[in-house]
Amino acid sequence: MARVETRVSFAANPARFLEEEIKAFVLENPDNSLKDIDGSPIFEEPLVGFADGDDRLFYDYKQIIGDFHLTPREVLERHLSKSLGEAESQIEGISVICWTLPFGKETRLANSKMTEGPSRQWNNARWLGQPLNDSLARHVVSCLEERGYRAVAPDKAPFFEVRSLPNGRCSNFSLRHAAYAAGLGTFSLSDGLITPKGIAMWCNSVVTDLELPPTPRSYVSHVANCPFLVDGSCGACIKRCPAGAITAQGHDKNRCREELYVTQKHWLEKPGYIRGTYAGCGLCLTRVPCESRIPKVKAPLRP
Ligand code: SF4
Ligand code: SF4
Repeated sequence: MARVETRVSFAANPARFLEEEIKAFVLENPDNSLKDIDGSPIFEEPLVGFADGDDRLFYDYKQIIGDFHLTPREVLERHLSKSLGEAESQIEGISVICWTLPFGKETRLANSKMTEGPSRQWNNARWLGQPLNDSLARHVVSCLEERGYRAVAPDKAPFFEVRSLPNGRCSNFSLRHAAYAAGLGTFSLSDGLITPKGIAMWCNSVVTDLELPPTPRSYVSHVANCPFLVDGSCGACIKRCPAGAITAQGHDKNRCREELYVTQKHWLEKPGYIRGTYAGCGLCLTRVPCESRIPKVKAPLRP
């Protein structure tokens, strides 16, 4: 099992402590294993980033996504009033701690050989990885609360909701948009986030009143890591999708959902597959140039 060797104390460096704690939680966790298959890790080392919760971007998201989309400040205010009963709480600084969990190499390799539905490894990683990601969020919240800070995982809060809009389902706090704000990657044609460790990953966030140094966004645009969206090249994910849910116009969430919940429903009956609400798919995240890295762009955008 991989270990995180150097550990710094929270008092000495809260940002580094949290980054190391998140990495250690994943790398040293006995549940980070495809136990019933080959014992390979579900997730590789996480990427961790921090965003200023009052970053202008979070207010822009109300225009880009919808006015129902909550800013981190609104998330924490709702958490304090609804969960803790604090009517008038003064919140000064606010941060969003974000991480991405890259799927393990063996899982990606197994899924890259598939063409109509997910491999058993991908299915197991999807349904065993979810509780691991959830328990990591609880762990980060506990770390902060034990030290006197207020914290909440937005997607586990009672006010978190997913709306059905004409162009697909949309939550009132996008974990991908938070990760983008925290410098972890840029958006893709397939509607994912391409990080330095690729697109085959999950992300998550915790909002807190601990002030942390924001991670620089080292990209020149919100689509800089996807060659198709920069110079029209690649497009491999279009061919990978068995449902035709990815086109030059982007990702059709409704068609994708139909494929997952209806067309691929019978995959849940296969031996060794975990019977979640859907089998997993993820074909557009594997055997594509952005699977585990940022692909080369022919004509990079200039600042
Ligand atoms: S496969 Fe190519 S076009 Fe599709 S998201 Fe990845 S980099 Fe972009
Ligand atoms: S998850 Fe599957 S159905 Fe959805 S876009 Fe990707 S390949 Fe297509």
